[in-house]
Amino acid sequence: MEIGSQIEGCYRNTSLGMPCRQGSVPPLGIDARTVEDIQAGVKFAADYNLRLVVKNTGHDLARSTGRDGFMIWTHNMKGIVIHDKLTPAGAPVTEFHEQAVTVAAGVQWHEVYSKLDDVKRMMVGGVTNGGSVGAAGVDNVLEFAVVLSNGEHVTANAQQHPDLFWALRGGGGATFGVATSVTYRMYPTVVAVLLEVAVDPSYPNQALKSSIEECIRISPTLTDMG
Ligand SMILES: Cc1cc2nc3c(=O)[nH]c(=O)nc-3n(C[C@H](O)[C@H](O)[C@H](O)COP(=O)(O)OP(=O)(O)OC[C@H]3O[C@@H](n4cnc5c(N)ncnc54)[C@H](O)[C@@H]3O)c2cc1C
Repeated sequence: MEIGSQIEGCYRNTSLGMPCRQGSVPPLGIDARTVEDIQAGVKFAADYNLRLVVKNTGHDLARSTGRDGFMIWTHNMKGIVIHDKLTPAGAPVTEFHEQAVTVAAGVQWHEVYSKLDDVKRMMVGGVTNGGSVGAAGVDNVLEFAVVLSNGEHVTANAQQHPDLFWALRGGGGATFGVATSVTYRMYPTVVAVLLEVAVDPSYPNQALKSSIEECIRISPTLTDMG
């Protein structure tokens, strides 16, 4: 069959029997489980001059796709290490952080939060190599372990590769390397009450307004009560 007679993507509304191609999803990839897997994937892409795509969950719409590319899929790269005391790589031993957590590339936030809850600790999550929505998560990164385009595995932090550390926290997805793990500050758990109110302002409603005012008024008391 000629490629030209196929459509580009296999969509749900495609007519039955119509041959379709892979669209923007890379046709080749690896299920990376270790640093060595990622190094091998980076080398393979370089050797065969393939467009390299890194995907974890794929939740960040379409940023982990690449037509005819080669994918490194990190979703199964698991591992969470809690540090009571951490001296960043390359820092003097006198410099340390009390309470940090190292999270492998495929770990999802619900897994980290649940693990930290067991030890009465918390951290700030959010997309890390995209600058974070609201930036709080990325501001808590202490260091990244990254495979570079030459296959080298390095630690980037304030002491080592500080320019790379700066770039990785600013955005760009996998532009600067493939993160194998990220280490974050963590904090003692604090009790908080989350109150979410959605209001349609096109319908003025005095009773609703009064109840929202009351919720806001009592929220400090609710928080204090745990
Ligand atoms: C509806 C919606 C709500 C969202 N809400 C929030 C929010 O509240 N807070 C927030 O911070 N974000 C939010 N995001 C952004 C999104 O959640 C994050 O981008 C996503 O969780 C990142 O996870 P991921 O790495 O698995 O995503 P992916 O889509 O797999 O990857 C995202 C980017 O990171 C790159 N990447 C993935 N793994 C690696 C790696 N190991 N090394 C280097 N690069 C890598 C990919 O190439 C891609 O460019 C939201 C997105 C959507 C669609």
